[in-house]
Amino acid sequence: MIQYGHQYIDDNDIQAVIDVLKSDFLTQGPAVSRFENKIREITGARYCVAVSNATAGLHIAVAALNLSENSEGITSPNTFLASANCLVYNNLIPVFADINPDTYNIEPDEIEKKITSNTEVIIPVHFAGLACDMGRIKNIADDHNIKVIEDAAHAIGSRYADGTPVGNCTYSDMTVFSFHPVKTITTGEGGAITTNDESLYKRLLELRSHGMTKDTELLTQNPGPWYYEMHSLGFNYRMTDIQAALGYSQLLKLQQFRERRQSIVNRYNKAFDGIPYVKLPYRTFEQVSCFHLYVLQIDFEKLGTVRKEFMKKLTDKGIGTQVHYIPVHTQPYYKTHYGYKIGDYPIAERYYQKALSLPLYPAMSDDDVQKVIDAVKELVQQ
Ligand SMILES: *Cc1c(COP(=O)(O)O)cnc(C)c1O
Repeated sequence: MIQYGHQYIDDNDIQAVIDVLKSDFLTQGPAVSRFENKIREITGARYCVAVSNATAGLHIAVAALNLSENSEGITSPNTFLASANCLVYNNLIPVFADINPDTYNIEPDEIEKKITSNTEVIIPVHFAGLACDMGRIKNIADDHNIKVIEDAAHAIGSRYADGTPVGNCTYSDMTVFSFHPVKTITTGEGGAITTNDESLYKRLLELRSHGMTKDTELLTQNPGPWYYEMHSLGFNYRMTDIQAALGYSQLLKLQQFRERRQSIVNRYNKAFDGIPYVKLPYRTFEQVSCFHLYVLQIDFEKLGTVRKEFMKKLTDKGIGTQVHYIPVHTQPYYKTHYGYKIGDYPIAERYYQKALSLPLYPAMSDDDVQKVIDAVKELVQQ
């Protein structure tokens, strides 16, 4: 079975994990800061905090900003639940801004329409690995004195339109990455937050570990080496050394992963170009994207079928597909608690009706790619 996404693990990754298992530290040891330093090097950000997963990362990124209760945060409806849930965890009101019909990323014009005097944060999501229009989003945020957290769960190894790496925080206060196995690099479960702001960095460290500090500059007294203080209500969102060592080893392959993903995307684009009722993903030659997903827009109705049937025919041939994403505002929880309804974000909803993610991961063989192309072509060509 060819799944829609899959990790790539080689002998070096396995050895890196074995080395940690044989060492003194399974957690809170040297592998975590080594991994954090590597992410700093790759992104160019000043600080990095590794966490247990990106959902935890988004939770404490919002918490670190100390926003007012019941203020509003704006994110994309075309995302995974966690991009909006992190607002709810922090007692903020989740507001959505519709997507651009070509890039499927949050549309800056729509953000502007949703801003009120109560808006305090924007969480753009770099969908499928394509960076959002961060220049415009930063301008909007600055004009209204609003914070920005990038959800870059899809986008390690991608670049902004200016050619610099996603995660350098030129356009935001913080950037959050995910290392779940279907994402570009993996630590099993894992995430990381980058920032250039020292005070945010210190707050993130505290929030990651129970709100505790041993920093002698911050203690109200210092009776001895055992002593620690709790200054805020934090969590245990730490990453283990086992995960961090795997992550470091994975990051060494980031460029190889990006190139392999790009070459699969190129083959898909060539194969599906010009087929009626099929729209290719957004293509830009200026902006390097480390593709996390390959999403086709397929007009199933015009092809005389429904998505469920289409997916089943592919599954029968050993090809797994997925749908990214069910618009978050249409989830029962968001409808019940915030009064959202179908029709509120029509572009994301229309996009969703036609979306299908094809398999995309570096461990796919050329034969696997051809198998997917042949099977999809058979279904879309009439
Ligand atoms: C995967 C994902 C997350 C959550 O990541 P976890 O590490 O699984 O918690 C958040 N946002 C987006 C856009 C994602 O795709």
